[in-house]
Amino acid sequence: MKSIYSAALLLVAPAAMADMCRLDVSATDLMRFEQQTLQLEERCSEVEVTLHHTGRLPANAMGHNWVLSKTADVASVANAGSTAGRANNYQMPGDRRILAATKIIGGGESSTVRFSTAQLEPGTSYSYFCSAPGHLSLMKGRFVYNSTASSAVAKNLPK
Ligand code: ZN
Repeated sequence: MKSIYSAALLLVAPAAMADMCRLDVSATDLMRFEQQTLQLEERCSEVEVTLHHTGRLPANAMGHNWVLSKTADVASVANAGSTAGRANNYQMPGDRRILAATKIIGGGESSTVRFSTAQLEPGTSYSYFCSAPGHLSLMKGRFVYNSTASSAVAKNLPK
């Protein structure tokens, strides 16, 4: 069904990047993400996530990143990231459990990561979080990729 839907979209607007979507997420000096859930429509074959640090504190005091993994992997990915250190953006190099991630940024900065949704499996729970040491307990959210999620879930507009 998905390929048929995509083909129909292409007939309507052949020049448009119909399956490329964009999500924005903000992080603050109060060690929070402003969005608790990010929802991606099923038609999105690629997604560009941009993390905005809306605070003022520098990266060495209140640096944040945006890391996506299976919910079941969050704690172990964050632990490995703490060991990897700031020089590696608190991400263990080569950690295949990290599905997508931005670098660590400070107040006023932003960082974007683009990835394919082909690696996301239906029926699997995904979460995003900040892997800076001590941030995980306050900085995590659900990443929902399907077309039937509750309308109560906040939606970002497609690009
Ligand atoms: Zn953080």
